[in-house]
Amino acid sequence: MTAQAAALLAALRQCLGAEQVLCDGDLSAYEIDRRRRYHGRALAVLRPGSTDEVAQVLRLAAAHGVAVVTQGGNTGLVGGSVPDASGAQLLLSLQRLNRVRRLDAANLTLTVEAGCILQAAQEAAASADLLLPLSLAAEGSCTVGGNLATNAGGVQVLRYGNARELCLGLEVVTPHGEIWDGLRGLRKDNTGYDLRDLYIGSEGTLGVITAAVLRLYPQPRAVLTALATCATLEDCLNLLQRAQARSGATLTAFEVMNAQSLALVQQHFAAAALPSMPAAPWTVLLEVSDARNEQHAATLLESLLADAVAAGLIDDALVAQSLTQSRTFWRLRETIPLAQAADGLNIKHDIALPVSRIPAFVVQADAAVQAQCPGARSVNFGHLGDGNLHYNVMAPAGVAPAEFLVANEDAVNRRVYDLVNAHGGSISAEHGIGVLKRDELLRHQSPVALALMQRIKAALDPQGLMNPQRLL
Ligand SMILES: Cc1cc2nc3c(=O)[nH]c(=O)nc-3n(C[C@H](O)[C@H](O)[C@H](O)COP(=O)(O)OP(=O)(O)OC[C@H]3O[C@@H](n4cnc5c(N)ncnc54)[C@H](O)[C@@H]3O)c2cc1C
Repeated sequence: MTAQAAALLAALRQCLGAEQVLCDGDLSAYEIDRRRRYHGRALAVLRPGSTDEVAQVLRLAAAHGVAVVTQGGNTGLVGGSVPDASGAQLLLSLQRLNRVRRLDAANLTLTVEAGCILQAAQEAAASADLLLPLSLAAEGSCTVGGNLATNAGGVQVLRYGNARELCLGLEVVTPHGEIWDGLRGLRKDNTGYDLRDLYIGSEGTLGVITAAVLRLYPQPRAVLTALATCATLEDCLNLLQRAQARSGATLTAFEVMNAQSLALVQQHFAAAALPSMPAAPWTVLLEVSDARNEQHAATLLESLLADAVAAGLIDDALVAQSLTQSRTFWRLRETIPLAQAADGLNIKHDIALPVSRIPAFVVQADAAVQAQCPGARSVNFGHLGDGNLHYNVMAPAGVAPAEFLVANEDAVNRRVYDLVNAHGGSISAEHGIGVLKRDELLRHQSPVALALMQRIKAALDPQGLMNPQRLL
């Protein structure tokens, strides 16, 4: 270790306490990403317990010219939350910055620190009979700061929007160690450039989010979930249109899963599979959240499904008869990423498209993938209601997943992302750019947009110390 690094660590121990500056022992939980694709090594893992401590850390890092990688729950899927392999970067974990600061029921807002686990924030809202609608399968371990830094989506974007729409204010520590207190719970605030929107989705490259004011909603009086099977993706789309026309804002989720994704669940997590649901090319999970009562919700959902059967759009449907059964339906959907992980590495695409283009895209992408690697298996699932598809490509049966990934990832990505572009879509719907998609962003983002982003980065982080080599 250089004398300069030793001096920095000594100063950090003084400011955080020696026990919150981790250099030895097993640090793999911080240094390896969730998909185990990126294995880094940190100069130290820092665990500040307050915004002031975060500010002191960033001031010290700036003075020593040392890079800082911020981490929340380390559930990100694009390699942005772990240090590189140099052993020279500080890993700033926000796990201890996890307090609920304020619940303002009359203003429908919740102020939490960035390291607060999403599920804990949801529970804080529920304790006042309010709803924090941000919801994703990683909610038991991801943090509010990570959600905002990646502008996370999840399963209720259709009705409530993504993390950006659910955030009214932020507290941020800049790369120079200044604290910007923008924790205002306002729905209207036209006072110049929107710094909040700048930091949301910036993936830790412009500063550290330390707290946020989140927007809450009244709890719906009834939430009903159903599964329906469709022969084609066009039928799923038609069902979505009917559901939107009938239910309006009552429709809170509309997810699709192809047969391959459910077969994986059956193979790796048989307990989460649903034997009562016949296998079909596509299965839809839809949910309505009703402000009136259960009877109203049931009538709405059952008549929608009956009409869709009569119109030949769906073959079978199952309405959850209890909260437990509804959870079972959701578990089926949420187990798909886990089943994929259990099957080995695969080529993932978290893409956004105009909803109307999704069926044509899938047909063309499947053909392009087969032309590139015959026998590859497409695992398609996602939030059809908001145009976000997880279009993932697995090795043909009998081929080792890791070898398949190395041999085909670049070529498959190119074919898939070129099609995404041709359909007016985005190469990242909700997971962000991180390291994984950094080079693709160069190909797909307009030169003017990239130049503006570079200028913003240079203005706010002139030393380039915040999450270097991520996003840009
Ligand atoms: C099973 C599973 C399901 C998922 N489902 C979804 C889904 O439906 N929708 C979705 O959008 N994502 C999903 N994800 C991805 C992931 O959970 C989200 O991206 C989540 O928002 C990341 O939160 P985190 O606290 O784990 O952040 P991390 O993984 O720790 O960090 C993610 C990025 O944010 C930065 N960051 C973290 N905290 C801060 C902070 N306080 N200030 C500044 N920068 C920060 C990091 O540097 C990194 O670049 C899923 C992941 C898993 C494993």
